Amino acid sequence: MSSNNHFQKVKFEKLSQNRKERRRDYSCGDKFIQLKKIPSWPAFYKENSYSVSTAAHPQSLVDKFKDECRYQVDAEINEKVSVFYGDITKLEIDAIVNAANNSLLGGGGVDGAIHRAAGPFLLNECQTLNGCDTGDAKITGGYDLPARYVIHTVGPIGEKPSMLEQCYRRSMQVALENNIKTIAFPCISTGVYGYPNEKAVQLVLPVVRTMLEAHKDKFERVIFCLFLDIDKKLYNRYLPIIYPLN
Ligand code: ADP
Repeated sequence: MSSNNHFQKVKFEKLSQNRKERRRDYSCGDKFIQLKKIPSWPAFYKENSYSVSTAAHPQSLVDKFKDECRYQVDAEINEKVSVFYGDITKLEIDAIVNAANNSLLGGGGVDGAIHRAAGPFLLNECQTLNGCDTGDAKITGGYDLPARYVIHTVGPIGEKPSMLEQCYRRSMQVALENNIKTIAFPCISTGVYGYPNEKAVQLVLPVVRTMLEAHKDKFERVIFCLFLDIDKKLYNRYLPIIYPLN
């Protein structure tokens, strides 16, 4: 086995370890965050209703969107979504999604953070994948991350809705194919790739809801990992519209 595919042995070992064994090697030490510490959307709303209702940006846009999108209350689906504020590399779940670039060889932003936290075997594995098309998704091990897997997707540069939709769909399809039940998304394309934040949330929340409706029993939790204040405000504003509570 060449040193370049040494990752295979490490990947196999890690994936066969139980959680206690894996915890010894997490790059974040004991700063990992367990799923049970992340409230589902209804519980989050109960705890934070003040900030959910005071999100500030154009009301007219929200009202227009509300009129166009009438979603039914679905208590089961609501329990399967969460928002988490912070660093995606700390989440101890089945898979985190990486907002990668076409080369899959690492970059800045969340991509850089994921590669740093996973360690060098992640790059070794990515080097064998022959890159990734925009809108597609490919899976690797998580190595020294608390997440068992990383699903790498490549978002569009600029506002290309069908491509961004494809990223979320493909990532969830890859999760289904790998029996992944808990998955976290960063705000794909809204950083360096420049997708407008509000347009992104308006697209992402319905797309994920549709996927959850189609595969209700397969997913335990989809976590929207929010790093910036603007995204916290936007998700707080649009979650009650796409995932109404009563
Ligand atoms: P893209 O190139 O797809 O726009 P970026 O990495 O530039 O990807 O940004 C995507 C989002 O990820 C942004 O909201 C950015 O703030 C966020 N982000 C950056 N680092 C992290 C992190 N460690 N955990 C979660 N989100 C992050």
